[in-house]
Amino acid sequence: MDTPDCITVECNLCGSTHAEPIRVGRDLMLGHPGEWTLVQCRRCGFIYLNPRPRDMAPYYEGSYLPFEHRPKHTLIPRRPKSKIEEVSVGAAGGYYSLLQQVTKATSGQLLDVGCATGDFLVVAATAGWTVTGCDLSIFATEQAKQRMRPFPDARIFHGTLESLQLSSDSFDIVTLWHSIEHVENPKATLHEVYRLLKPNGRLILQTPAWLSLESQLFKHYWAGLDFPRHLSLFSHTTLKRLLQQIGFSSIRSLYQTSYYFSLTSIIFAAQQYLPATLLSKLYQLLSLGPMMLYSSPFFRVIDNCGLGSLLTFVASKPMPLKHHDDRFS
Ligand SMILES: [Zn+2]
Repeated sequence: MDTPDCITVECNLCGSTHAEPIRVGRDLMLGHPGEWTLVQCRRCGFIYLNPRPRDMAPYYEGSYLPFEHRPKHTLIPRRPKSKIEEVSVGAAGGYYSLLQQVTKATSGQLLDVGCATGDFLVVAATAGWTVTGCDLSIFATEQAKQRMRPFPDARIFHGTLESLQLSSDSFDIVTLWHSIEHVENPKATLHEVYRLLKPNGRLILQTPAWLSLESQLFKHYWAGLDFPRHLSLFSHTTLKRLLQQIGFSSIRSLYQTSYYFSLTSIIFAAQQYLPATLLSKLYQLLSLGPMMLYSSPFFRVIDNCGLGSLLTFVASKPMPLKHHDDRFS
């Protein structure tokens, strides 16, 4: 790729153009050239990539992590395909557990924004939900369509959520698993989610937590940065403020630490010092089941202190206020 063609943007939360650089880094996941800068809005504290590529498509290819195939130049050691599938299925299973915590229902209309190849949609549809998914990747949506064939009511779309023009008040649940940080205009996307939800419908959103312990420890090696694909990084404060601005109510949050996420940050940092062969051995060692098991209590403490690496928000679209006519009271 030649020198990237970039654009500069204003703060998506408050519209200010006054921001200061706070972290610089490179594409450690796929190895695309270029150095990228995260800036923090001086007025509201929102963190975003600025400048950013005019065209994001080359930075995804078919090989981006949620998708099945990986490029030869990836900097993460390759794993057997079955391992990739285990991670995918494990993540989708965890997402469904969260959905079950939020709602006791096992059926209804569910939309997944940024559905990738459809791991979560398969789990939700199998459980009884009528599912709709969308993603910016043609490769991913074609894969998702193939996988959703056993579910004739399922709909998979390619494109931004805002471009789909789905019906208002039509979904019981809208999920964004690690997708809000990828969209160009998170405020517009969440406004659209709000429009699409039925009254009392719920949004479930998970994204890397900017103020997590891992973010502070690993700095520009933190997996949550994923330069230049993560265009926005949220703290609890900025995300809650955005949801409130849009009109969501009953806003709740929780922190979780993902072992795979931590492992990725460790590998990104270690690749500075270790040759590829040792890096691969380190990855295999840290991928062992007992390592995950022993780290679990430590991660729970971090989560309970509000320093976990993943931030999940659940929020509701309130019921419309009934028109009150004083003449009849
Ligand atoms: Zn701002």
